[in-house]
Amino acid sequence: MSTLRFHALKEALHRDSVSVEETERRSELYARNVFDQTAMLQYLTKDSYQSVISAIEQGDKIDRRMADQIAASMKEWALSKGVTHYTHWFQPLTGGTAEKHDAFFEFMDNGMGIEKFGGDQLVQQEPDASSFPHGGIRNTFEARGYTAWDPSSPAFVFGTTLCIPTVFVAYTGEALDYKTPLLRALHAIDEAATAVAKYFDKNVKKVNASLGWEQEYFLIDSALVASRPDLVMTGRTLLGHSSAKGQQLDDHYFGSIPSRALAYMRDLEVECMLLGIPVKTRHNEVAPNQFELAPIYEETNLAVDHNSLLMDIMGKVAHKHNFKVLLHEKPFAGVNGSGKHNNWSLTTNTGVNLLGPGKTPMSNLQFLTFFINTIKAIDEYEELMRAGIASASNDHRLGANEAPPAIMSVFIGQQLTQVLKELEGVTDGKLSPQEKTDLKLNVVGKIPEILLDNTDRNRTSPFAFTGNKFEFRAVGSKSNCASPMTILNTIVAKKLKEFKKEVDVLIDKKSLKKDEAIFNVLREYIKQSKNILFEGNGYGTAWEKEAKKRGLSNNKTTPEALKIKISKKTLDLFEEMKVMNKTEVEARYEIEIEEYVMRIQIEGRVLGDIAKNHIVPTAIRYQNMLINNVSGLKNLYEKDFKKYAKEQMNIIEEISLHIGKINTKVAAMTTERSKANKLDDIEKKATDYCNKVKPLFDEIRNNCDALELLIDDELWPLTKYRELLFIR
Ligand code: ADP
Ligand code: MG
Repeated sequence: MSTLRFHALKEALHRDSVSVEETERRSELYARNVFDQTAMLQYLTKDSYQSVISAIEQGDKIDRRMADQIAASMKEWALSKGVTHYTHWFQPLTGGTAEKHDAFFEFMDNGMGIEKFGGDQLVQQEPDASSFPHGGIRNTFEARGYTAWDPSSPAFVFGTTLCIPTVFVAYTGEALDYKTPLLRALHAIDEAATAVAKYFDKNVKKVNASLGWEQEYFLIDSALVASRPDLVMTGRTLLGHSSAKGQQLDDHYFGSIPSRALAYMRDLEVECMLLGIPVKTRHNEVAPNQFELAPIYEETNLAVDHNSLLMDIMGKVAHKHNFKVLLHEKPFAGVNGSGKHNNWSLTTNTGVNLLGPGKTPMSNLQFLTFFINTIKAIDEYEELMRAGIASASNDHRLGANEAPPAIMSVFIGQQLTQVLKELEGVTDGKLSPQEKTDLKLNVVGKIPEILLDNTDRNRTSPFAFTGNKFEFRAVGSKSNCASPMTILNTIVAKKLKEFKKEVDVLIDKKSLKKDEAIFNVLREYIKQSKNILFEGNGYGTAWEKEAKKRGLSNNKTTPEALKIKISKKTLDLFEEMKVMNKTEVEARYEIEIEEYVMRIQIEGRVLGDIAKNHIVPTAIRYQNMLINNVSGLKNLYEKDFKKYAKEQMNIIEEISLHIGKINTKVAAMTTERSKANKLDDIEKKATDYCNKVKPLFDEIRNNCDALELLIDDELWPLTKYRELLFIR
């Protein structure tokens, strides 16, 4: 056994769980390190409090004088928590979070030092940060990028730093981050949904999109991770034979949580609570060492910030517990990968969930309006929804018969299918009084208030209605939720805007009553969006065939999937809804496709190294042992030796075959890589990485994994699956 593997195993086996003291109630910990409304009430003057609130609620600008006051109070609050530094905290297009700390410390004119933090520093910073991906938006000579305060997500203290959530934009105003387009999309859905909600209740002034994410992850002992170069460099195992026992017994799912993992979860939850992330649920997932954490849902911008923050602190807390958190969508072959379900709904300022059935026929008509518009939006933009979750790592999961397929469809359950069927028969134009009564009593009136238990039990659907929300299940565990949420909210906003226009035309020009007009437009939407509805098994090949007939896209790889992002339809959508201009969309496309290439390139290099520098030499060493054994037998038995050495000789031959294949395939992969690298066209490069480089991974892997089964365990250099998985 390699010394590294030996020491790693020894270390991991002797670990105790880190003890976590939890003496306070969660409700008392909640948001203690957040400059939330309670803290603001305590620290801000009435005026400045009011200006923050109207910035949050109406998007009003905060003037300079107010900003100074707010900054001074925020600093006082932070100092009371032992804070020394502040940072603008943002989400660049790398997928992580970024921060650059500055001390509050400054000199006064007389040379004495003080703690200072003014409105200028709060509102805007120029962190330079020219090395973040920008897709050509920032030329190096014009490399300025600004961060600007987002008052709708409260500042928080982590460690000894005050973190101020910000957007990150170029000098020219273009978005360089995830948050900016998300905020614009949330504004669009607010406007469009409010206008439609006013058909049902004039008092609606604002609609918030909510997001409740469910984060899946793997926990692996840090010493074991350190012993695997592939995990260290790529976040997943590029090779490794599956262990005899994986998840086939289903004994991990919802099982009792291993004590080391539980200690980690408790510690993490305390940190989350302090930061105002309302975590609620924890459990074992399907694969060994796989877990899930979910909070109570929140307003989408805040929920996205919280998920990004969570992914960051998960790693930090794990360090204390000698764990590494793997957020990769497919760290281990043969067991389930990880996703991040995005539960989504729309809530009015009057407290009504527009995607929840109500108590009266009218509130149910409101529900159906938002429900059907969402379905129609997905139908029109299914390919863009798929593109919104595309990444090199998520490609492993989509369509791998454990996660939703790369085909987008909507599951709504039996009852609602029936309701839509009946609505489809509504008369064109004016409705008779009898028909109206019928609709009220027998269709709309019959939607049960609590659908929760009757809907979703179809786990194979990528976009399922689950009683009072839609659940987008194809999102990758590692990805920033902003991307899919920007798309979803934008397409639904666009649909609602069109819906409103169509209904108004029927009211104004055809003098239909409001509810007649609504029924009429909904009827057409139901007819037009049938293709996207699917109740069956999303994992089956039958569905692939059927989906093809229906004309639904099935983009299995990222380079294929991303193309739609720069189509005219998408550019028009984002432009019209004022979410992103052409430059911003194209820049993102370029960044994503480049990231794809780099990920595959890194994996290729690491796999090549491991295969040639770890596996092949080990195989040769073992082969030599066998050769010695065979020559020994030959000495002993002379002519008869084959009787005793036959099996050994077979293994010697098999090893040579695998070594041969590994060497040729690694060489082929390297050649394909350098050919692809010479291409100037990034799209072609990505396609070649996808179709010519990546397929060789499997061939190399299969030969390495076969050797793992042949070679003496004592010699094997890499920590094995059975050792990596199954923590206590
Ligand atoms: P599961 O999908 O594991 O069965 P649930 O369906 O109960 O679990 O969903 C859990 C997630 O859904 C949680 O994050 C929860 O906060 C969120 N959620 C519940 N209701 C809503 C809603 N109306 N809008 C958005 N998210 C919601
Ligand atoms: Mg779920």
